[in-house]
Amino acid sequence: MNHFRLLVTAAAAAIIGSLFIAAPANAQDTDPVDDPWDDTIFLTFDDGPGGSYTDEILAVLAENDAQATFFLLGENAQRDPARSQAVLEAGHAIGNHTWDHPNMTTLTRAEMDSQIGTAQTLLEGYGAEVNCFRPPYGAYNTEVNNAIAAAGLQRQMWNVDTEDWSRPGVDAIVDDLLGATPGDVVLMHDGGGDRSQTVEALEIALPQLAEQGYKFGITPKCSPA
Ligand SMILES: [Zn+2]
Repeated sequence: MNHFRLLVTAAAAAIIGSLFIAAPANAQDTDPVDDPWDDTIFLTFDDGPGGSYTDEILAVLAENDAQATFFLLGENAQRDPARSQAVLEAGHAIGNHTWDHPNMTTLTRAEMDSQIGTAQTLLEGYGAEVNCFRPPYGAYNTEVNNAIAAAGLQRQMWNVDTEDWSRPGVDAIVDDLLGATPGDVVLMHDGGGDRSQTVEALEIALPQLAEQGYKFGITPKCSPA
């Protein structure tokens, strides 16, 4: 056996070996209950409720059979109980995004506990089962993590940032949405300003993603038990 043929044989064995190893995992992936990440994109909306933008986002989610996670601010939710309830009644999950959006890493531990606790009490008072927390600006450190854990919450970050808060144009937000793949957690905003670009981008992108077979769900960390 010459050297080249030996290499080919070794490569073939490696490929056959990897196929064999991959087989059980693939078999498991055919069960949608056991593998919720298979076809699901996790849309998340921060800083709400955000007035009529929240209404419009709820409408486009409903049109596309989509569930999502809304990280409400305590002070906004207190001002707008009706929309907070509407998010819940539409079958979405609510996450805790603090009372009034401080950078948590600048706070004392007592202030952290107060930001999380006051929002949590209000949201639970609306009947929400709140299991997750998203730090404003994505800012956290060990002490913030400790405060989140002490409140019995899980930290939920994101891996796709549409930067919709900066109003980059509908097309830019659509491109980010269409680039999402299963398991991605996508950051958007229904509150904190003019979110008409966010609404319009969702109206364009969600039907296309649904057409491709994607589903839109609540993140596992935020899902009610
Ligand atoms: Zn925020």
